[in-house]
Amino acid sequence: MRVRLWGTRGSVPAPGAGTARYGGNTSCVQVTLSDGTTIVLDAGTGIRALGLALDPPPGPIHILLTHLHLDHIQGLLFFTPLFNPGCEVTVWGPPTAGSLERLIGRYLSAPLSPVEVRELPSGPAFLACPGPEWQIGQAQVHARLVLHRGPTLGYRIVDGESSLCYLPDHEPALAESLDHVEDEWISGLGVARDASLLIHDCQYTDQEYAMHRGWGHSRLSDALDFATRSGAKRTLFFHHDPLHTDALLDELGEQAADRWRERGGGEGAIAMAMEGGELQI
Ligand SMILES: [Zn+2]
Ligand SMILES: [Zn+2]
Repeated sequence: MRVRLWGTRGSVPAPGAGTARYGGNTSCVQVTLSDGTTIVLDAGTGIRALGLALDPPPGPIHILLTHLHLDHIQGLLFFTPLFNPGCEVTVWGPPTAGSLERLIGRYLSAPLSPVEVRELPSGPAFLACPGPEWQIGQAQVHARLVLHRGPTLGYRIVDGESSLCYLPDHEPALAESLDHVEDEWISGLGVARDASLLIHDCQYTDQEYAMHRGWGHSRLSDALDFATRSGAKRTLFFHHDPLHTDALLDELGEQAADRWRERGGGEGAIAMAMEGGELQI
């Protein structure tokens, strides 16, 4: 499958000269399966440019939302395929009290939006994930609730021999350092195990985390621990804090690479996620 990053930022868009290289758009990852099916992971502001690039739409589009925080749904209103009556779009989301459509409608309705959900010309389907596993195109999709604030899913997409795990908002070490926790008690590890590519939260530096414990995100140390424990072949650190400039992310990336090497990790197996990045897995 082919993976393209359209938004790697967390919390709120952070455009500007200081964030131009890693990008200012919030979470959105395009996955093209080997049978050509399009899956979109989250609908942050990165999905706007993706929508323009999907012209004409390549067939049915499946948007998998991890959760409904604004930085993961804000781009929906600007995703052009939703305004194309000929385009089939399905939006999958976490199990919530009340229908997914009604909850998304809190954003896509007056006074916050000029367009109501029911007015979207493509007539998208809004569906709660049907269970821990289901089929989209030729991929098997696995979804599990993970540690974050509010019901949040981590996804694993398996296409033949390749697997992608997506955990953009995740605080697996909320209670204690992962060093002391057995595998079966680590949030998200089941969907990340031996993935070809892991995309994981790394919002904070270790110093910043002290002020943000319980906010639902990982510091660099925990992201490194999780990557190690998962056995993923490659890991991209994702959901960059809006305060993290390109210079700081370069620095953090170097620090991560040094610490990864000290652990005996493979060269080039970890990197900071960069908007516009593309990988074949
Ligand atoms: Zn987020
Ligand atoms: Zn969140």
